[in-house]
Amino acid sequence: MNISKIKKTEILSNDDDGIDRASIIIKSGGLVALPTETVYGLGADATNAKAVELIFKVKGRPAINPLIIHIDKMNIFEIAEENEIAQDLSSKFWPGPLTLILNKKNKSKYKIAKNALAGLSTIAVRVPAHPVFRNLLEKSNLPIACPSANFSGKLTLTRFEDVLSSFSGKIDAIIDGGPCPIGLESTIINIENKNLSILRPGKITEETFLENNYVLKKNKSKNKIISPGQLKSHYQPNTPLRMNVEKPNKNELLLSFGPLPKNTIGISLSEVFDLNEAAMNLYSSLADLDELALVNNSKSIAINHIPNEGIGIAINDRLKRACN
Ligand code: AMP
Ligand code: MG
Repeated sequence: MNISKIKKTEILSNDDDGIDRASIIIKSGGLVALPTETVYGLGADATNAKAVELIFKVKGRPAINPLIIHIDKMNIFEIAEENEIAQDLSSKFWPGPLTLILNKKNKSKYKIAKNALAGLSTIAVRVPAHPVFRNLLEKSNLPIACPSANFSGKLTLTRFEDVLSSFSGKIDAIIDGGPCPIGLESTIINIENKNLSILRPGKITEETFLENNYVLKKNKSKNKIISPGQLKSHYQPNTPLRMNVEKPNKNELLLSFGPLPKNTIGISLSEVFDLNEAAMNLYSSLADLDELALVNNSKSIAINHIPNEGIGIAINDRLKRACN
């Protein structure tokens, strides 16, 4: 496939027929965007270096950035080295929005393409819970490399319509699976000497790990990997953002937490101050406000204070990066 060419992108349903077709495309080295419980992903056969290469090209993602490999639970320790903590985390949180960084297994029935891991000896693995993704893993019987379906450095996408407008003509197919229920990327965990460190906060929070008696360490790893989830600036809309604002300036749009005040133009993340609802709405609201800013001639978007607790920590993490 030559991505400079306009491709005909198939729109697939999220039922067996659609997923059968997606599986055929993946097995023949194509790219399929699909819903996950976290955000929309851009999937390819993780054992096919050419297909993986296409992911990097289409996203404009630097080759030094490794991809998360998704696989069914039965085969996880076929591609990653088993250890006690990984076993325990896997039984508690998979399938679900948790990514573990583990040592890559060298002798495996699946040969993960080197470029998917950016040449590292570690591998980021996740067992997704979304029924569409689980069905695709089962039908294709392959590990699937699947980063978020967005252009590198731009807003992550959580709605089918947004994926369609970004990727139509650039990839082989998109599965229409409606909005993603969590709305934020997975929690990424590194395991070092029986201690966990959170490389990227998400729906599974620090509190949950502590409740499960894990020891959490600040991530001091001087790893050479440049991980976009850890860079200061990422996930950016086009319009500048201001965080922790009580009252927007004249002509500024508002992203409110709680009901949108009268005489204000903007969107509410959650009218009832629910952090999970706010997470689910975060990226789609930013996408809509970006469009609204053009129509309204607004130069910036003000954002109310979001409590820094539970999934609020992940919301604030993404917003801070979006402000840079
Ligand atoms: P995304 O594009 O949202 O799927 O981002 C995947 C994240 O996982 C990025 O921040 C990657 O840098 C990170 N990642 C993938 N593999 C590894 C690894 N072996 N070690 C550390 N981080 C990783
Ligand atoms: Mg991403």
